[in-house]
Amino acid sequence: MEDIVLSGIRSTGNLHLGNYFGALRNFVKMQYENRCYFFIADLHALTTHPDPKILHENVKNALAQYLAAGLDPEKSTIYIQSDVPEIAEMYLLMNMHVYVGELERTASFKDKVRKQPENVNAGLLTYPSLMAVDILIHRATKVPVGKDQEQHLELTRRFARRFNNIYGVEFFPEPQNFNFGHDAVKVPGLDGSGKMGKSEGNCISLIDEEKVIRKKVMKAVTDEGPKTPDSEMSEPIKNLFTILDLVSTPDTVAYFTEQYKNCSIRYGDLKKQLAEDILKYTLPIKERYADIINDEAYLRKVVTCGAERARASASATLREVREIMGIRKF
Ligand code: AMP
Repeated sequence: MEDIVLSGIRSTGNLHLGNYFGALRNFVKMQYENRCYFFIADLHALTTHPDPKILHENVKNALAQYLAAGLDPEKSTIYIQSDVPEIAEMYLLMNMHVYVGELERTASFKDKVRKQPENVNAGLLTYPSLMAVDILIHRATKVPVGKDQEQHLELTRRFARRFNNIYGVEFFPEPQNFNFGHDAVKVPGLDGSGKMGKSEGNCISLIDEEKVIRKKVMKAVTDEGPKTPDSEMSEPIKNLFTILDLVSTPDTVAYFTEQYKNCSIRYGDLKKQLAEDILKYTLPIKERYADIINDEAYLRKVVTCGAERARASASATLREVREIMGIRKF
């Protein structure tokens, strides 16, 4: 049977190379092989009380970047979470079977309590319920999640199982993590160690200006260079090669690998080539983004059509959930 795949999208921040090679590139492929739902999680964003003046701009920006990077509204259902009121209703129903204790024990909640003790709202506590509903409302079977979200997916399986047990039904499937196998990569930062990430502040954004990207790459941390043939690569250099491997041709990678091995490598040349090849990925996305973000009519069409399809699926599930729980029409 065809898998139903669902992925949520954060509404804040620009997409970076880590997002592209770690997730998006696979999403683009995945949508041709599965029934995919992608949504911008604007209701989840409300837990941090975003400025109402910028919330919509953030949603629009995220949508335009995902479309520019290759999500295809003809192939996938792309929608805004708040455009599907069925989600809010099912969130209410789901919360009747979700226990405060188990929510308080989630790592993400404990982390927020530590980081923002002044804003521990009920939405934050029930974040995993909403996430479970996002998934279960389409009876999705696969969800591509990173390590930080695995616990939420485990809770979703628990809620699905619990619902099925309480009502004696086989209604919700237990969603599994979408495994990209060999395609799963960790994109490092250019600052010597660790991954590229928003909170690390070391991102090459997909919509960065050409000269900004060149500058960021030229400033990448390196070392003093190999002293002896076949000497062990230091972490910053390994990181440069990891990114080169993703963006450059095998010939280019082989050329610089050989130069490293025979100690003739000049990191300046390596970085110039790396910047060039990163730009081959990012510039077309940046250009498409510039067109899309200014095309209000197109964006409206995408979300209207997406909401229609998402609501058809969500309302079918909700209708059955109401029936199962005994909420019936006179
Ligand atoms: P974030 O922007 O942190 O919400 O990340 C969204 C998704 O992008 C994650 O779940 C990962 O799949 C992917 N991702 C983010 N940063 C990286 C990275 N440095 N390397 C690989 N994948 C990444």
